[in-house]
Amino acid sequence: MGSEGMSAIQSVSPQQALALQAQGALMLDVRTPAEWHTGVAPKALCLSLASLLNGDEQACQSLPADKNTPVMLVCETSQRSQQAAGLLAQRGYRNLAVVSGGMAAWRTHGLPLEQPPVDEAALRYDRHLRLPQWGHSAQQKLGDAHVLMVGAGGLGSPAALYLTAAGVGHLTVVDDDTVELSNLQRQVLHSTETLGQPKVKSAAGQLHALNPLVKLTTVEQRLTADTIDALLAGVDVVLDGSDNLQTRYLVNERCQQRGIPLVYAAVFQFEGQVASFDFRQPDSPCYACLFPPSQAAEPANCSQVGVLGVVPGVAGTLQASEAIKLITGIGESLSGHLLTFDLLENRFRRLVLKKDARCAVCSKQTIGPQRQS
Ligand SMILES: [Zn+2]
Repeated sequence: MGSEGMSAIQSVSPQQALALQAQGALMLDVRTPAEWHTGVAPKALCLSLASLLNGDEQACQSLPADKNTPVMLVCETSQRSQQAAGLLAQRGYRNLAVVSGGMAAWRTHGLPLEQPPVDEAALRYDRHLRLPQWGHSAQQKLGDAHVLMVGAGGLGSPAALYLTAAGVGHLTVVDDDTVELSNLQRQVLHSTETLGQPKVKSAAGQLHALNPLVKLTTVEQRLTADTIDALLAGVDVVLDGSDNLQTRYLVNERCQQRGIPLVYAAVFQFEGQVASFDFRQPDSPCYACLFPPSQAAEPANCSQVGVLGVVPGVAGTLQASEAIKLITGIGESLSGHLLTFDLLENRFRRLVLKKDARCAVCSKQTIGPQRQS
């Protein structure tokens, strides 16, 4: 182990690794959380190759501070452990070895196994963490975010389910309605068993069962000019799943004033539309730019004109996707665009939206708390 650079990476058998471990060498398992759950070597440190490759500092903090500590890397066979050893060598670790044959050989030899320390979040969000644009930082941003879902109906159902599954930190759902049988053709957040219950109560049961790591606040009230400000406090993104103009204009105006991104959606029979208004950007158009109140007609009610149940499913799912992008900053949001779709003809169109200089909402002075830009 000369001082003039990287030392060669040794290879040790599983039996040797077990013996070296007893002498103080660290076993580092670089497989994935799903693989760890099949059993790890006793006292092994679990740190995935993806975390090492992403240079995830939070995860890498668990590595020994002393770069002379003997570290034996193990994966399922030995490919990933070779790669991980190279990464550790770059980090300055001088005493590295790869366990030949990996955990497959470990099990063949009947060496001891134990369950990994439970990291429920790492396993639950594993498929997110594998995404190249994602990593721990996007998951962390999502976990730190508070989303307000207005309505627990056709749009709110998929939106709340996917945001909860995705691991948004705090979800508040506001709705004053109760579950009816005619809702269940599209409002998949509810069930035959929760008929007659307040929608927020029904929603809370389903959402908590899906992901108990998410903080859930349910508010059984109608969103009004008197109640909205308290609900917007500390919220990072608002999803509007309401079905009436009064609520849409109110939510739009208050979000615009406070600089809170708003994701709007609406459905009609086989058609839907979704737009994001990122009010963190000063030139963002708003809902009233798109539909000036003077020309607006009350939306057709599903109970009168009907709606294909899948349509709010698609629109609400797109809302969840928009919220995730607005929170994490990955990809391109629909900000400044209106996405329209027609499922009967399978047509999707993305139209450019511009701020309307005559818009009554946008031309008002911002009165809310100043947000850092
Ligand atoms: Zn406007």
